[in-house]
Amino acid sequence: MREMMTWVVVLSLFALFLGSVTDYLPFALNGSTSSVLAREGEMIEKVHKTEQEWRKILTPEQFAITRRKGTEPPFSGEYNKQDENGVYRCVCCNLDLFSSDHKFDSGTGWPSFWQVIDSQNVAEVEENGFFMKRIEVICNRCEAHLGHVFDDGPPPTGLRYCINSAALKFVGSES
Ligand code: FE
Repeated sequence: MREMMTWVVVLSLFALFLGSVTDYLPFALNGSTSSVLAREGEMIEKVHKTEQEWRKILTPEQFAITRRKGTEPPFSGEYNKQDENGVYRCVCCNLDLFSSDHKFDSGTGWPSFWQVIDSQNVAEVEENGFFMKRIEVICNRCEAHLGHVFDDGPPPTGLRYCINSAALKFVGSES
């Protein structure tokens, strides 16, 4: 009996460990049962490139995050504290994704928005992990992994789009 309890504890700890490291792995351990939830097949011209083509135009970090579902460490991204007026585009295909008008400081260490610039421009994918369900946010034109959306954001939407800086390219309004 004691041996069984030990195994239960060991397995639980292992599962917790897996859950916490999957954000930092360069591939999606927890995306095995993904399904596109919304906006699939809407009229947006898709961009397809081979892995080699993406590697040519992206930095290794941008590639790991957008094409391999990576996550930058919190408080490390260049747009976390960015508060200038402008538009955040997809770093892969230049599609407008988020506006500074909808950006807020969530304290999480990642750029956070309570709204997408145009709901057609992103798609949401359900991620079924070992112990948690999350909604992944991808670019609807090139399928770049951007981050996740949670329902603990501020009014008026109550949403929090938690996005990697490395998936974005900021263009200021003045320029
Ligand atoms: Fe894109």
